[in-house]
Amino acid sequence: MTTPKAVLLIADGLGDRPIKELGNKTPLEAAEKPNLNRVALEGECGLMDPIAVGIRAGSDTSHLAILGYDPYKYYTGRGPFEAAGIGMDVKKGDIAFRCNFSTVDDNMVITDRRAGRITSGTDQLAAAINGMKLSNGIEVIFKESVAHRGALILRAPDLSADITDTDPHHEGTAVMTSKACDPNNASAAKTAQAVNEFVRKSYEVLKDHPVNKERIAQGLNPANIILPRGGGIGPHMNSFECETGLKAACVAETGLINGVARYVGMDITEVPGATGGLDSNVMNIGKAIVEQLASHDFVLCNVKGADLGGHDGNPQAKIDTIKKLDEMVGYLVENMPKGTYLVITADHSTPCAIKDHSGDPVAIVFWGEGVRTDKCQQFDERSVTSGGLGRIRGIDVTKIITQLMNVQEKFGA
Ligand code: ZN
Ligand code: ZN
Repeated sequence: MTTPKAVLLIADGLGDRPIKELGNKTPLEAAEKPNLNRVALEGECGLMDPIAVGIRAGSDTSHLAILGYDPYKYYTGRGPFEAAGIGMDVKKGDIAFRCNFSTVDDNMVITDRRAGRITSGTDQLAAAINGMKLSNGIEVIFKESVAHRGALILRAPDLSADITDTDPHHEGTAVMTSKACDPNNASAAKTAQAVNEFVRKSYEVLKDHPVNKERIAQGLNPANIILPRGGGIGPHMNSFECETGLKAACVAETGLINGVARYVGMDITEVPGATGGLDSNVMNIGKAIVEQLASHDFVLCNVKGADLGGHDGNPQAKIDTIKKLDEMVGYLVENMPKGTYLVITADHSTPCAIKDHSGDPVAIVFWGEGVRTDKCQQFDERSVTSGGLGRIRGIDVTKIITQLMNVQEKFGA
């Protein structure tokens, strides 16, 4: 018997609240979605709290939970997953940060947090920063990401992420001094000192760099400092394959989700036309999923669009993304190898009225051989409450998938 396969499709930020302009429907209720409804009709539905009831989940913590890793145990900050997402090799105990290339004046006051949204030359700036020597011997690894973004790893035994940020998060304010959250924590004090030295030296190295001289000559803001934030300690996590026995691939549009997937040993897939924006070619993502199923048992997929619509407070953008998702689900149902399980859910709600993530639970459906079909006929936040799953948590999802696939070790005799 061949091992069954599974696809876990996560529509980022799909969940919403009733919206007056939509006749008090959510975007998912208002959207035409015959394929999602078919999956709901043939599958088993319910509500899912990504972390726990009422908790506002981030995309990273939610994906960890849904993949079976307790975020309260493994998550100390976004940095390690951002760094892994751009291909950096984050090791256990590393302190990793997401960073901005920013612009400061001579008094270290931030005049542009995004350095004129710099789009080129950051590779040369990063090369000048990477390997910087710090006085306490902590190793510095730095890499540029897209636009004004980058990631920093500090590597040494006994570091701590319990430190404050140097980035004040708004302009017109001086760069702050990082401090240990607990003054008695020597590891944190050492790490904070390293961050402060790194930020100061980044200014010394970058302020007269040829890339910045050229920018100034063109009237652009120089990327003359690097501001780390969101520091977290590289957690020790078993690979997804070790935990589940499933060889896994990830098809996602954002570095953060690719970072979570890479951190647990999944293969990362590049999809042409998958922009992570509202213009993304979602059907190409579906095709990539089917391609990955040829060589993997499990494919994690994240489609970003619905979350953007939520953050923008734009219900129509959400509805448009749902339409594209629906077409992609139709393609999956027709083209996945026979016996593949399909799970569709969201990593959190991003209600248009809030323009940010909320703690509202999201719809979830399990579809495939042997699933206990229930009375639910439509895939939306309220219809699924009649489903057989009731209300589950993110941490339950992978367990349900592996038991449906019959690949889970028995607990007991
Ligand atoms: Zn998300
Ligand atoms: Zn979001």
